[in-house]
Amino acid sequence: MKNWANNVEWNPLEILYPASEKEIQDVVLRAIHLNKKIRVIGSGHSFTPLCSTNQILISLDKYQGKIAINKEKNLATVKAGTKLSLLGELLFKEGLAMENLGDINVQSIAGAISTGTHGTGVNLKSISNQVTALKFVNGKGEIIECSQTKNIELFKAAQVSLGCLGIITEITIQCVPTYKLNLQNKKEKLSDVLATLKERNSQNRNFEYYWIPYTNTAWTKTSNIVEDSEPDKVNFFNYWTEFVLENYVFKVFCEFAKLFPSQNKIVANITAASISNVDKTYYSHKVYATQRLVKFHEMEYNIPSEAYDDAFKDIKKIVNSKKFNIHFPIENRWVKGDDVFMSPAYERDSAYIACHVYNKKEYKAYFKALEEVFKAYNGRPHWGKMNTFTTQDVINMYPKFDVFMLHRKEHDPQNIFVNPYLQTLFDI
Ligand SMILES: Cc1cc2nc3c(=O)[nH]c(=O)nc-3n(C[C@H](O)[C@H](O)[C@H](O)COP(=O)(O)OP(=O)(O)OC[C@H]3O[C@@H](n4cnc5c(N)ncnc54)[C@H](O)[C@@H]3O)c2cc1C
Repeated sequence: MKNWANNVEWNPLEILYPASEKEIQDVVLRAIHLNKKIRVIGSGHSFTPLCSTNQILISLDKYQGKIAINKEKNLATVKAGTKLSLLGELLFKEGLAMENLGDINVQSIAGAISTGTHGTGVNLKSISNQVTALKFVNGKGEIIECSQTKNIELFKAAQVSLGCLGIITEITIQCVPTYKLNLQNKKEKLSDVLATLKERNSQNRNFEYYWIPYTNTAWTKTSNIVEDSEPDKVNFFNYWTEFVLENYVFKVFCEFAKLFPSQNKIVANITAASISNVDKTYYSHKVYATQRLVKFHEMEYNIPSEAYDDAFKDIKKIVNSKKFNIHFPIENRWVKGDDVFMSPAYERDSAYIACHVYNKKEYKAYFKALEEVFKAYNGRPHWGKMNTFTTQDVINMYPKFDVFMLHRKEHDPQNIFVNPYLQTLFDI
């Protein structure tokens, strides 16, 4: 088995595809009986070895789809293995939508919430915060329910759990009525973007930007709800810029940069020059999702939003020092703070800064240099993306880590859901 980025490989003893909650429970009871460990995989899009195991691996690919819809309250209960793309379609048929999403839709809903996956928008929280209730099979084989009103403390632990409490089987999502988003992608001057960040964030629903290394070019992505306009028809120009340029043409740039490391600055300049503007209006679930065919390594840290300006200045200095042969843009997003114990946005409005390196290139020295900056600004890593956090870092940065661990111990007393990576990360 390999994850999406091909940076983690493992060889499970068996891979099981349960198709009902009962079958999931049976797998856990059998594992307890045989004294075996289990990890669950969603779509394998995490860069950290969260899913790796040499024992039992469970995929919920056969456990997808709708369970119940509450039209009055805009609630949807779905099977935990449901991929975000299918979820978007099935909600759309019910006149519903997710309030916000990240930039791809191939993850499973359980995998997305378990690592704190997020989109962008200063008034919008991460996906875990759209969840109102959860059901999971714990390490004793029991089916446990928790929600915003039942077992509340356990719910706060389960909203972002890295798969440590048990196997999530059902997820209830607070949806919103279907809406259309107008998305504008623009090539702009980085200096202009930095000078107007506050306004862009407060005046738009979703704002993010990519900085093209070594240049004064930013690629901004701004979207807002539009009520009246008709959704656009498929537009070849948008398809060309969003799919062909961002994937196939960019892949050629990446290969060139790999073969000629000293030319990374030129590649970055060509990337900046080839950015085209996009203006499209469509239903939200089709607007958030992009396709990512070029594989990369990624590290993304959450920092308090008030630290963003200083942290970005430090990052820019390191990148512009040209010590590292990189050309991938640096992504910058914003998320509202929450009260989920293991959420990187716990009790703080946050900015996320993400750095990427083509997956055939060396990345460690570059990530190490940037991680030092993130840590200096009280950074917390995205749990699904590369980082070198230690147990002491987790203790220092997560005030409710001990409460999370008490629930973990209660629901997985035999450490059935612990793999070597989690054993080290949480000192279990
Ligand atoms: C190309 C790309 C784009 C990305 N874009 C974004 C983005 O825009 N925003 C963002 O925040 N992140 C992003 N990510 C990161 C990604 O969203 C997370 O790593 C996410 O967790 C992956 O979902 P998955 O279904 O692949 O989960 P996996 O990686 O398979 O699993 C993640 C965790 O969830 C656990 N898990 C899965 N299913 C269950 C279950 N049923 N019960 C309990 N635990 C479970 C696993 O055990 C594991 O601990 C991106 C990653 C890639 C590769």
